[in-house]
Amino acid sequence: MNPTPASAPTKTNPLLADKPLVIAGPCSAETEAQVLDTCQRLAQTGRVNMLRAGIWKPRTKPGLFEGIGTKGLPWLVRARELTGLPVAVEVATAKHVEDCLAFGVDVLWLGARTTVNPFSVQEVAAALRGVEVPVLIKNPLNPDVELWSGAVERLRKVGVEHLGLIHRGFSSYGQTEFRNAPMWHLPIEMKRRFPELPILSDPSHIAGRRELLPGLAQQAADLDFDGLMIEAHQEPDAAWSDAAQQVTPEALAALLDALIWRRETTDRQEFLTALAQLRERINHLDDEILQLLSKRMQVAEQIGRYKKDNNITILQPGRWQEIVDRGVQKGAKLGLSAGFIHRLLDAIHLESITHQDRVMNE
Ligand code: PEP
Ligand code: MN
Repeated sequence: MNPTPASAPTKTNPLLADKPLVIAGPCSAETEAQVLDTCQRLAQTGRVNMLRAGIWKPRTKPGLFEGIGTKGLPWLVRARELTGLPVAVEVATAKHVEDCLAFGVDVLWLGARTTVNPFSVQEVAAALRGVEVPVLIKNPLNPDVELWSGAVERLRKVGVEHLGLIHRGFSSYGQTEFRNAPMWHLPIEMKRRFPELPILSDPSHIAGRRELLPGLAQQAADLDFDGLMIEAHQEPDAAWSDAAQQVTPEALAALLDALIWRRETTDRQEFLTALAQLRERINHLDDEILQLLSKRMQVAEQIGRYKKDNNITILQPGRWQEIVDRGVQKGAKLGLSAGFIHRLLDAIHLESITHQDRVMNE
């Protein structure tokens, strides 16, 4: 029987107890000594609220280290005893859930390769029915907010009350700046859809390289994330998985020390008044932009009528190229990036085509 309705959670979410919630630990549990040394050094920093370690590792290619398996779970139990910190483990199958629950693992998380697959999410969800363990859901590998939301819904349906999200970036083809593109607008959309859920950032898997961690972690703090999941290892370069992105517990402490966690708001009247005035200006400017866009669409419709009368195609590749080139050039002078101009003009152009299409086929 389902012990709780599939509606919004009722009790306070323990994942919201600390802000920032910092979950740290090795990508993979490798040996008992490695787990215990890393976790004790992390606890000594006094800046970590929860420990993590991968026990089963979903690897892209065969032949890589696929995790130590169930025999690593007692090492985490020991780490918890020695540090007093709760432990979190990734689960991808019903058997993983069963083993973690048998060892009293405090928090479970779904990895990106699990969230992407509704069969796997459903299998894990079924194993969690009626179980009171908090679960964190990483974003799927691909930038699909519906899959990410779907995993939240599947877990809520079986009565998992304490949920949270982890943003670990999205994979793409070829060499890119980040191992996984952050695409910040996706976690922002998830915050809009699920404002009650804590959201952590995992800069380790976004970055792929430890040098990029501080900038990404600060960006997450500035976007009002609730915490971080970061990989740390007693000897990062010797790690059996994800070596380039791991840091020592001491380097992690320095990184966390340098982070600025800003408040979401304040009751200082001077600040609130200035902010309200500036927001009012933004609203006026947005209204003007919308009115201009509406005018632009009316002109596009006029063009559509001429094209219809003269039997001319809507899409004119030469003209479209000219619009983009003009926009990028003007934008550069106005301090607007080429990427933004491309995205903006793409959206305007698509809407224009829809309007012209309607005119032509009415
Ligand atoms: C991990 O946390 O080590 C991991 C495998 O992450 P992801 O699911 O984000 O790839
Ligand atoms: Mn990893």
